[in-house]
Amino acid sequence: TPAGLPRDVRADFPILGTDLDGRTPVYLDNAATTHVPQQVLTAMYGYYTNDHSNVGRGVHALGMRATGRFMRSRERVRDFLNAADASEVVFTKSATESLNLVAHGFGPQVVSSGDEVLISGLEHHSNLLPWRELCARTGATLQVADVDEHGEPSLDAFRAKITDRTRVIAVAHVSNVQGTVNPVREIAAEAHARGIVVVVDGAQAVAHRKVDVRDLDADFYCFSGHKMYGPHGVGVLYGKAEHFARLEPLLLGGGMTPIATYADGPLGARPPLRFEAGSPNIAGMVGIAAAMDYLDELGRDAVGEHDAALAARAAEGLRALDGVTVYGAQAPLGGIVSFNVDGVHPNDVGSHLDSFGIATRTGVHCATPLLDSLGLVGSVRASFGVYNTAAEVDLLVESVGTAEKGFWSTEHPNERFLPG
Ligand code: PMP
Repeated sequence: TPAGLPRDVRADFPILGTDLDGRTPVYLDNAATTHVPQQVLTAMYGYYTNDHSNVGRGVHALGMRATGRFMRSRERVRDFLNAADASEVVFTKSATESLNLVAHGFGPQVVSSGDEVLISGLEHHSNLLPWRELCARTGATLQVADVDEHGEPSLDAFRAKITDRTRVIAVAHVSNVQGTVNPVREIAAEAHARGIVVVVDGAQAVAHRKVDVRDLDADFYCFSGHKMYGPHGVGVLYGKAEHFARLEPLLLGGGMTPIATYADGPLGARPPLRFEAGSPNIAGMVGIAAAMDYLDELGRDAVGEHDAALAARAAEGLRALDGVTVYGAQAPLGGIVSFNVDGVHPNDVGSHLDSFGIATRTGVHCATPLLDSLGLVGSVRASFGVYNTAAEVDLLVESVGTAEKGFWSTEHPNERFLPG
């Protein structure tokens, strides 16, 4: 039974009962994707069963119902983030799309030749490549707040790289590799004193902590549904109204504008629809809103404490094993632990764990620069969610203790990939 939550949630997740050729799933890959509770599945099923149609286009009854679900979902996200207005919430397909939309559609409004964009040394590729590309296009320079020997950037590491030319700081709220929590509120305060825009990648944060965009004072904040007990294919971009007023859309087409002509003219209506051209993923929006209800019913603080306690138990158990290195000096508040077994490739550890039904992520975690700065070919990542238990953590630790060298080489620098 998961401790510290108001009730036993394991029964909410049908997939935990699936048979993996005789093994029971011990799912510790929640930072990649979380599973979907019955409550969210039921909400999406209910949408398709009772209210399905296209939105904002027809005057008929089902169209109205679908439009109502669509609008209520946006309002639910506004409330979840404590944004000031629902027009500051845009639905995308993922955190990746959200970050690309900001880098592409807002970046050039504030970044020009000679300027600087500052990221940190632990970013996911999705919060690196769009900025690198923006810099290449505009003649700006990408700056990186260094991580220390534990792979963690301090507030001082950001301060050291802020200059008169810094226009944007883009930073993960929580690292997807070792769960490091970055001081985004403090970064935003320093940035705003100097007129710098702050973009926060919250993909690993929203399932583990209360996020209040006004308290953080983030200019933009983004995440994906599939890492917070919602479905794949739906993501969120929050942006302050003043910034959305300047953002240019990535996609053009139906739904974003009431009228279009052959001549030049304004592209699109007001936010948020201006950034949502094309028929939306309504079931996904219903699903992400239901996932927010689910998290709030359990209590986001309780969920965060539960996940962090399991990660701390795992870190302690793994550190006590001979020949196992656990990365990161921070307490694993993000519910994520990264480690290696000396001389054993992380993929071999992952396969060994899989033979017990234990799912972990192994490799570079789409964060190659961080793995490079730690001098690692990759790592094994265990990441925790609401349905995980202390017994599962103990099974992980016990199973890691019997991992042996296998197929993969730890010597060759290109022995990194599985894709991703
Ligand atoms: N940022 C971070 C920190 C992530 O962990 C991920 C997903 N691994 C992403 C961005 C991208 O999320 P998605 O693949 O859902 O777009």
